[in-house]
Amino acid sequence: MSSGPVGRCTDLVKVFDADTGSVVALAGVDVEVRPGEVTVLIGPSGSGKSTLLAMLGLRDTPTAGAVTWDGRPADDLTRRERADLRRRILWVTQRPAAALFPHLSAERHVAQTMRATGAEHDDPAEVLDRVGLLPLRSTPTRFLSGGEQQRLAVVSAAVTRPDVLIADEPTAELDDHSSGLVFDQLHALAEHGSTVVVATHDARVRSLATRVVEMRDGILVAEGVGDGALRARIDSRRRVELPPAAVAALGTEHVDITVTEHGVLLTPARPA
Ligand code: ADP
Repeated sequence: MSSGPVGRCTDLVKVFDADTGSVVALAGVDVEVRPGEVTVLIGPSGSGKSTLLAMLGLRDTPTAGAVTWDGRPADDLTRRERADLRRRILWVTQRPAAALFPHLSAERHVAQTMRATGAEHDDPAEVLDRVGLLPLRSTPTRFLSGGEQQRLAVVSAAVTRPDVLIADEPTAELDDHSSGLVFDQLHALAEHGSTVVVATHDARVRSLATRVVEMRDGILVAEGVGDGALRARIDSRRRVELPPAAVAALGTEHVDITVTEHGVLLTPARPA
């Protein structure tokens, strides 16, 4: 079984020059994505998820900070090494239609994808069935709905077993059941050793991730580290942004901060 590479962003900054001035899309992000895991970047629209994916996927270069894959800084790669690494990274974009063969039926699309990538170990009809598309096997992909195209794009990507899969909003148009089917595919891929990274503003998929990384305003707010614990960064002005789940659990805007022998405890403020 091949294993995908470990990707790491260190203090990543991206500033865009827009007509209205500079836009800081990423303001110092540290994150690691690992094979065998489905890492989900979650955050509202504009929080920097797509920008982070573009840096990780070597589609764009950061203003400052570093991206490494298996410890090698992307900046140090030769043009050829960079191209080789980019070939190991498969994308499922928000609008997957462009990546589908428009005139082929769903079933022939899967068969063609498998032939093109030498991944002919599955039966195309069975592949479609994994994401509930078997009844649409004969439908040309251009006539599928946005959500059906998303499911087809994810399952087609999964059968080719890329070393790295990057998916931007793969469940945007899907109901809970279909989102679950899509994530089953992503987890199966991760179990085969791929490094899977998903960006979404869809809070429903939080529970479907191996690891959740929360983003807001270009910074990483918190990262799930197992056992329900969240890891957050204290910024240079000693601020920590609480993730929405923590704010909801506290249920109040005012908190008492108690330093204990084991750590720091936040509790809803006692009435004065
Ligand atoms: P998300 O994927 O979380 O919706 P993005 O990474 O697309 O967020 O965008 C982060 C911020 O960067 C937003 O304020 C967006 O408007 C801005 N941005 C993204 N791409 C560009 C660009 N090419 N030029 C100018 N601003 C951009």
